[in-house]
Amino acid sequence: MKSDPTSWRPATRAVRGGQERSGFSETSEALYLTSGYVYGSAEEAAESFDGTRHRYVYSRFANPTVTTFEARLALIEGAEACRATATGMAAVNAALFSQLSAGDRVVSSRALFSSCQYILSELLPRFGVTVDFVPATDAAAWERALATPAKVVFLETPSNPTLEIVDLAAISTLAHRAGARLVVDNALASPALQSPLALGADVVVYSATKHIDGQGRCLGGAVLADRAFCDEILLPYMRHTGPAMSPFNAWVLLKGLETLDLRVSRHAESALALARFLESRPEVERVIHPGLDSHPQHDLAMRQMRAGGTLVTFTVGGGRERAFRLLNALRLIDISNNLGDAKTLITHPATTTHHRLGAEERDRVGIGEGMLRLSVGLEDVRDLEDDLKRALAA
Ligand SMILES: *Cc1c(COP(=O)(O)O)cnc(C)c1O
Repeated sequence: MKSDPTSWRPATRAVRGGQERSGFSETSEALYLTSGYVYGSAEEAAESFDGTRHRYVYSRFANPTVTTFEARLALIEGAEACRATATGMAAVNAALFSQLSAGDRVVSSRALFSSCQYILSELLPRFGVTVDFVPATDAAAWERALATPAKVVFLETPSNPTLEIVDLAAISTLAHRAGARLVVDNALASPALQSPLALGADVVVYSATKHIDGQGRCLGGAVLADRAFCDEILLPYMRHTGPAMSPFNAWVLLKGLETLDLRVSRHAESALALARFLESRPEVERVIHPGLDSHPQHDLAMRQMRAGGTLVTFTVGGGRERAFRLLNALRLIDISNNLGDAKTLITHPATTTHHRLGAEERDRVGIGEGMLRLSVGLEDVRDLEDDLKRALAA
């Protein structure tokens, strides 16, 4: 008799959650690389479609490897249900479009991942949804915006790349008073460092591409919420629009969950060490990391996150030219727009990830020409510090 998974502590859930061994009694989770399923009889097929029999019928709807990933992530997150998607953006798209209709109002944080920004500022208005943007850290502005009824509140915390912290407990209270569901993009914190559902959020979305894989191999995403939202609102939308996760990616990401906590703890420890190092350097004008005492919302970050996160954003004097010189002088850290990888990666947001925003919007969200975003990996932190030291001197 197996013990009840909900009695397990988080590390145990991450290693064993969701596993259902096949008849071959394998140790590691099986990979069911199949698009379809067969029926023992015509009656069984008919019952599978009229709802009297629950079983796998097609991998756009469900697949055993994907189900294992979903069950494990739901256990880690403390969510009733989870639906996996092909990418993080498919998760954001499904979480929003599945519940919104023409005439609805959305209130969103202004500081967003640029593709989320595109969905909220370009796509939703095309379908008659009104979207009002609020500066992430302006409590009075949130209060004003949510004095009027809304259907959805959407935000990301910490935000990318300026690492602003939104007070999840406070915003969830305001959202619920306005009649809205709070949808949180938790990609940057990862399930290891922040649990938005426990702080009052209704829906959590992930790019599993980031820390959940953590080794730069697969795209993936997930939406987590209560069973009613997942089954009644999300599932019909997903079944018929097709953002399903591939079983192969689910298998890779499932194994990623087993080491998520270990990896993210090390990422975060090294990120804080490098943030302190950068703060000590005269070439660096400003360092942003929620774990630093100098972060304007350090206390809030430490209340709602288990560590300051895996990213460090810093600004060098001398603008774009100096930032590019630093990037080009690095010998170990790679220039890449991805994040949450075992390899330390660095990017210049103004010309890459946030290029699309345009100069005016970048100014408004505080992305300068000398700003660099470092995604701290799992290398020895002393080698990373040496590389940055050399590049800063260049
Ligand atoms: C990467 C990212 C996404 C999009 O995820 P993909 O897997 O690339 O589609 C969404 N939100 C945030 C905060 C991200 O960092």
